[in-house]
Amino acid sequence: MIFNVQRFSTHDGSGIRTIVFFKGCPLRCPWCSNPESQSFDYDIFFDKQKCIGCMECVKVSRNNEFTKTDEGISINRNNIKDPLLFKDICPAKAIQVIGEEFDVEKLLKELEKERVFYDKSDGGVTFSGGEPFAQPEKMLMLAKELKKRGISVAVETCLDVPWENIEAAIQYVDEFLIDLKHVDGKKLNEVTGGNFTRIEYNLRRLEAEKVPVTIRIPVIPGFNYNTDDMHAIIDYLDSFTNIRELHLLPYHSFGKGKYQQLGRDYKFRTEALNKSELEPFLVYAKNKGLKTVIGG
Ligand code: SF4
Repeated sequence: MIFNVQRFSTHDGSGIRTIVFFKGCPLRCPWCSNPESQSFDYDIFFDKQKCIGCMECVKVSRNNEFTKTDEGISINRNNIKDPLLFKDICPAKAIQVIGEEFDVEKLLKELEKERVFYDKSDGGVTFSGGEPFAQPEKMLMLAKELKKRGISVAVETCLDVPWENIEAAIQYVDEFLIDLKHVDGKKLNEVTGGNFTRIEYNLRRLEAEKVPVTIRIPVIPGFNYNTDDMHAIIDYLDSFTNIRELHLLPYHSFGKGKYQQLGRDYKFRTEALNKSELEPFLVYAKNKGLKTVIGG
């Protein structure tokens, strides 16, 4: 299951890239800017403001999934058993079904369309998410086929998956972009549900396999944006021999509006960080000899 294919990205990996967003993630980070990536199932975005009152959704509803009320159209999410009923029915795009079970051949054809840009810029395709390694079979098929066609593959991962899922794909992946959120296992688990023992095991296995990795730390106020935590994470990374680059990613709240469209609360209320606020950590990491940038 994927939920988006984004072309001409210059952020997630080298050169110009197409990003394939896999749907489903083992973590539940409260600051997640793609909340529609978390569930392994379909989601429905509903943007009431766009509704033009055509009633198509009410007509299609079998179980009062969408109803007309005095305030306009109302969505009753608990009644939705078959989200695909509502795919492409809204002329105003007020309703969007998020998620698509992809066909490897069809997707490959799409990804190959940008080949000229990959070749000219040393770019390629990046698997992001969600967590690509949480759908190991399809991901592996896609990575193998891209590799066969000479297209570079990068994977953005939280590593909170069984090692076997990663190991099978190593030979087909050119760049590992690892989102490391914390090294305090208790805090990580309490806030994101993550399993640091498993993440650490996978990090060390990648090191043992001599796989170069880029580490990306989302720097989040109230979670890891403080000197003690950031120094602890950087000190920890300093013990590795396979880190190609470290990216410090300042917290932003770009995904906030999506929570409302999913009928969820954005509980993470805090100000975005400026790049300059991460400078002290950039200096600290550089002094350790880690090639570090803010952003990435
Ligand atoms: S189909 Fe879209 S535009 Fe029409 S009533 Fe439903 S939400 Fe509104």
